[in-house]
Amino acid sequence: MSVFQHTTFYTTINHLQDLPPPNGVEIAFAGRSNAGKSSAINTLTNRDRLAFVSKTPGRTQHINFFKLGDKHFLVDLPGYGYAKVPSKVRQHWDTLLSTYLQTRQPLYGMVLIMDIRHPLTQLDRGMLDWFTPTGKPVHILLTKADKINRQQAGKVLQDVLNFLGETYPQCSAQLFSSASKKGINEAYAILGHWLGLDPLPFQKQNQAELKPTIKNPPVKGEKNRGANYLNK
Ligand code: GDP
Repeated sequence: MSVFQHTTFYTTINHLQDLPPPNGVEIAFAGRSNAGKSSAINTLTNRDRLAFVSKTPGRTQHINFFKLGDKHFLVDLPGYGYAKVPSKVRQHWDTLLSTYLQTRQPLYGMVLIMDIRHPLTQLDRGMLDWFTPTGKPVHILLTKADKINRQQAGKVLQDVLNFLGETYPQCSAQLFSSASKKGINEAYAILGHWLGLDPLPFQKQNQAELKPTIKNPPVKGEKNRGANYLNK
């Protein structure tokens, strides 16, 4: 989708008062360190090193904004689960991030990156528990899908969709690979829809494929029914 191909670095912020004016639409990218978030952003924007700006010394704990067109932004959040972060930095990060995620008006939804070989870790589920009360959608990219065979990948996706359907009805998921570009059109369609852009004709043809098949709406009081997904 062409708008993604014209993404540029916009700004990096470490303090809430430096957030850009709340105009347009933002999509946040979150995930465990090393899950493949920077690679996914680079793949979606067709840029080799765009999101690696977030990894330059001094910026790893910052929120980095990338601009698509006039009023659309991809927002790269610091990766979580990195044990070596000193507690003072972590506290600052927690406040910055939680305030951004819970109060930012232009934020439409979150793309949550998970390594397909380690989906729905405790921290990922914590993020879902914590963000979904905002009522905003979460789309999970199960990255590095090239690392396992097709059948295994399909099984993981189905298990994740079942878990989401039971627990987080506004969440969806798909397979993704920055190495093979698998899932890129599916991701464009979801993100394009979130940003209010028209899907391309080829994406219209594939709508059935794009809608995650969540069949079991959650039953009140059964929020944690799927919480043992990883222990299955
Ligand atoms: P981040 O910390 O979440 O931003 O993760 P990176 O994007 O830096 O990726 C971490 C490592 O996983 C790097 O060595 C990447 O080359 C590798 N990686 C990321 N995505 C993929 C993928 O789709 N397939 C494969 N095979 N490797 C990937």
